[in-house]
Amino acid sequence: MSLKVAIVGGGISGLSLAWFLMAGSNPGEENAIEPVVLEAEERPGGKIRTEKADGYLPEWGANGFLDNRPHTLEFAQGLGLKPLRSTDASRKRFIFLKGGLKLLPESPKAFLASGVLSPLGKLRIALEPFIRAKMDDETLAEFATRRLGREAFENLIDPMASGIFAGDPAKMSVESCFPRIKKIEREYGGLIKGMMKLGKEAKKTGKGPVGAGPGGTLSSFPGGLGQLITAAKTALGDERVKLCHRVEGIEKLKTGYRVHIGGEGKSSFVEADYVVLACPAYEASLVLKDFDNGLSRLIADIHYPAVSVVSLGFKKEKIPFDAQAFGFLVPFKEGRKILGTLYDSSIFPERAPEGHVLLRVMAGGARASALAMLPDEKLLSTVMGELGEMLGLKADPDFTRIFRHEKAIPQYPLGHLERLKKMDEMVAAHRGLFITGNAFRGIAMNDCIDNSFKLAQNIISVS
Ligand SMILES: Cc1cc2nc3c(=O)[nH]c(=O)nc-3n(C[C@H](O)[C@H](O)[C@H](O)COP(=O)(O)OP(=O)(O)OC[C@H]3O[C@@H](n4cnc5c(N)ncnc54)[C@H](O)[C@@H]3O)c2cc1C
Repeated sequence: MSLKVAIVGGGISGLSLAWFLMAGSNPGEENAIEPVVLEAEERPGGKIRTEKADGYLPEWGANGFLDNRPHTLEFAQGLGLKPLRSTDASRKRFIFLKGGLKLLPESPKAFLASGVLSPLGKLRIALEPFIRAKMDDETLAEFATRRLGREAFENLIDPMASGIFAGDPAKMSVESCFPRIKKIEREYGGLIKGMMKLGKEAKKTGKGPVGAGPGGTLSSFPGGLGQLITAAKTALGDERVKLCHRVEGIEKLKTGYRVHIGGEGKSSFVEADYVVLACPAYEASLVLKDFDNGLSRLIADIHYPAVSVVSLGFKKEKIPFDAQAFGFLVPFKEGRKILGTLYDSSIFPERAPEGHVLLRVMAGGARASALAMLPDEKLLSTVMGELGEMLGLKADPDFTRIFRHEKAIPQYPLGHLERLKKMDEMVAAHRGLFITGNAFRGIAMNDCIDNSFKLAQNIISVS
């Protein structure tokens, strides 16, 4: 008999899980796994969606993934897609510091000559190998200040936390948010020591990232990330991706589960052997409310601050700065009202009509959620005001799109790992129930896909 798996949520986590289940089982055979994705909205993709308007190709949420994770590449390849690598120009990245853009150095030699840190700040980094390793988890701010010094934390690490998590480094758990970095400290006693050893190993074997960072090249697809979602939906088919199916609760049957679907006055249900919650934690909490109240409460308060993405198109000649780069991030201490700006049309080709550029400004995040939810006109004037003051960009945009994420990116504060441990124990008490998605073990698309791959292997092995 085939095994039916109901997957709640058709974001990248749910879609890739369905695909890995299909790819790894034996369709048509007796023990085949039959996934069905139940998606609340009219379209799949969750935080991944590409718009196409007036010759521009703005991304609604995520804008790329690093091409060094095999399961993402396997997923894309299985769907017949070839990743599009970012341009060489996008290796140039800036930090907005002391009123101007400072180039982020790409090598230790360039770092010594760069203006991102004062001579004292650079000296403090040179002392990093002498700082004792700490085994326990701590906040990103504590970790970075302890190992690298306050200036490096404020100028370099803080904007990175904004750029990836839209988070507050004074609350983020370093181990949950950047497990590789904490692992390097634990295993090698320090970041510089670890990077040198790993660099040597990588050179010898030709494998693995050289630095403490994740490595890889930022990638997308010619039609934007939305192409991945469309291809996944097509490959799975309408029978396996049910849109406008908002799950409201689950109920245990003698064998398997009944999944209750609501919406627009009509309710229905689906029965399945296994249920996977791949929706945001606050939604999973609602689904679980009457099923396991303790588990529901455990994940209810995972915080998702608001972020708005403001996409702006301009004629090239109106841009008064060098937009042939990746873009810039803004340290919190600069006191600006935006988190950063990506130069979309320089990162990937054909994101703007000939002779135009597409910029993408992020506002909001854990330290300024209210800003992201300003009314459209106010948000646009705030963003334009900032670009004017910061970069001298005074022209009105020819193209504008505002993409709101009222609950944008889940935050992993100190204590997140203990929450996960408890969650795993509670979930294990319900045979056939699983929870995945970006609220738990990584927010990057790559992490979501990796976790779905692992879960698919787990389901296939126990089925
Ligand atoms: C502005 C922004 C920029 C980002 N940039 C990047 C980036 O450049 N690179 C990167 O790797 N990551 C980026 N991320 C993060 C990444 O996009 C997400 O972590 C990832 O896409 C989450 O996928 P998911 O499937 O786990 O969750 P989601 O995308 O949130 O999908 C969950 C799905 O569940 C559905 N759902 C909710 N409730 C129910 C219910 N009751 N019943 C049925 N369905 C339900 C939702 O409609 C949604 O489709 C960014 C995120 C944001 C917000």
